[in-house]
Amino acid sequence: MPIPPMPYTLCCPRCFWKKTIIPLSDALIMGRDWYAKCPHCGYDILERRSASQTEILRARIERIFGLDRG
Ligand SMILES: [Zn+2]
Repeated sequence: MPIPPMPYTLCCPRCFWKKTIIPLSDALIMGRDWYAKCPHCGYDILERRSASQTEILRARIERIFGLDRG
């Protein structure tokens, strides 16, 4: 039985880009639920950690308003 992944935040240690991701299922979609590298500077070793409540809330708001496509 698949377990939905927990929300997490990807951080770029080089340019400090970060994005909180709320997976909709266990099927991750590149560019929406997962990034292989930083979309800002191209650094490909992103740090991944559990998202805080504040970050989850913000990510949900961005998703509602369609602000998470850039
Ligand atoms: Zn970066």
